[in-house]
Amino acid sequence: MTDRRAALTETFMERLRARTPHEEEFHQAVEEVVYDTITVEKNDHAFAGARVLDRLSEPDRIISFRVVWEDDDGAVQINRGWRVQTSNAIGPYKGGLRFHPTVTPSVLKFLGFEQVFKNALTGLPLGGAKGGSDFDPKGRSDNEIMRFCHAFMAELCKYIGPDHDVPAGDINVGTREIGFLFGAYKQHRGQFHGALTGKGESFGGSAMRVEATGYGLIYFLCHMMAQAGRDLNGARIAVSGAGNVATHAAEEAIAEGATVVSLSDSSGALLAEDGLTADHIAWVREAKGAGRGLDDAPKGLRYTRGAQPWGAVEAQVLLPCATQNEMDEDALSKAIDSGAKMIAEGANMPLTAGAVRLAQQKGLAHAPGKASNAGGVAISGLEMSQNAHGQYLSAEEVRRRLKQIMGNIHDNVVSEAELRDGRPDYRQGANIAGYRKVAQAISAFGA
Ligand code: GLU
Repeated sequence: MTDRRAALTETFMERLRARTPHEEEFHQAVEEVVYDTITVEKNDHAFAGARVLDRLSEPDRIISFRVVWEDDDGAVQINRGWRVQTSNAIGPYKGGLRFHPTVTPSVLKFLGFEQVFKNALTGLPLGGAKGGSDFDPKGRSDNEIMRFCHAFMAELCKYIGPDHDVPAGDINVGTREIGFLFGAYKQHRGQFHGALTGKGESFGGSAMRVEATGYGLIYFLCHMMAQAGRDLNGARIAVSGAGNVATHAAEEAIAEGATVVSLSDSSGALLAEDGLTADHIAWVREAKGAGRGLDDAPKGLRYTRGAQPWGAVEAQVLLPCATQNEMDEDALSKAIDSGAKMIAEGANMPLTAGAVRLAQQKGLAHAPGKASNAGGVAISGLEMSQNAHGQYLSAEEVRRRLKQIMGNIHDNVVSEAELRDGRPDYRQGANIAGYRKVAQAISAFGA
C-alpha cells in the first residue's frame, strides 16, 4: 500500500516538476497532499476519472501585474503583484494577500493550493486563492505604505468582488493595509462591497477577525491535548514569530494557563524561561508596530540575535507562527531534545519536508496549518455572511462560533486519520478531509 502510494506520488510529481520547473515551495505543498490522497482518488469510484489532484495542481488562473508608486523622495518605484485564483469549486476564491520580498509565483501557488484544503475544512463555502507582492514594507513610511496599497488595488480591483474573489490579509497585511486597500477598491469600483475581509469594524469588519487565527490555533491545540489525555494548564509552549498570529496565540495560551517561553522575529529569538506575561506581549506589539527590533527586551526576557526559539528553552508544545520552512530537521531535533511532543502550525507550511518526516518518525502529534490555523479564514467567512446580510455578531458570539468551528475541524480531521501508536495522523486526516469535500464538488459538476 505504502509502496503503491509512493510510486503513484512519484509519477505525479515527475509530471508536475516537468510542467512547473523551479517551483520548490509549490512542489513541496503538492507532494504532501498527493501522498496522502492519491489512493483515495484512485480507489473511490465517485472520484475516479475526475482527476481532482491534477486539476488542483494547476490554478484556475494567475493574474500578474505591475505596481507603480511614488516613494517619499518622489522617486518612482516598481513592484510586481499577483493574484493566484486556485479553485472556486466550493465557493468564491478566498485567501490572503502577502507583501514580502520572498513572494514569488511559486510561493503564492503553494499558499493558494493549501488554502483550497484549509477553506474546505472550515465547513464554509469558500474556494481558495492567494495573492500579494514582492514589496518590502520594512523601513517604509505610513504614507509610502498607503500609496503602495492604493496602487496595488488600482490593478487588483478589476479581478475581485464579493461573489467572485475576496482577499484578506497575510504577512505584512493587517487591518491598516486592508483599510487602504478597501478605500481604493471602493473608489475605483464606485460601490460598497464586502470584497475584502479583515476590514475595520467601523466599515463592515467582523468582531474578533484580528484575534481569530491565533486564538483558533489555541482552541485547536486544546482539542489535540484532550485527544492525548492532557490539557494546556502548565504546559510549556514555544512560539515563533511576533506578528498577529504569534502574539494572539501566545495571549490565548497564557489565558488557558500555559507558560509561553518564546516569540521570535527574523533577526533572533525572544526567550522567557519563566513565561511571557501580557505586558511582554504588549511591549512586542508596540516595538513591532513602531518598526523597532526586539533587542532592548524588558526584564524577564532575553533576546538572542541570530537564534531560533526551537530547543533554546524546554517546551512540550511547538507553535511555529512565522513563515514557510522556518523549522528544518536540525531545529526540530533540538526541540525534541528539549522535550517537544506536539506541534500545531500557526504559519502555512512552516516545517521543511525533512522536519515533517522527523516529526512522524519520532511520533509527535503534528497538526498542519491547513487545519490548525484555519480560524482566521473561518472568521473571514463569517465576515462575508455578515456583510451579505447587513447583520453583525457580537465578539462573544464570534468567539463561540470560532471555538465550535475549530472543534469540528479537529473531529473531522481525526475521523479521517489513521492511528499510529494510538495517535491520529493529523496531516493525513486534514489532507483527506479537505480533499473529499472539494473532490465531491468537482465530481458533481461532471467532466
Ligand atoms: N491569510 C490567512 C490564511 O492563511 C487568512 C485568509 C483569509 O482570511 O482569507 O488563511
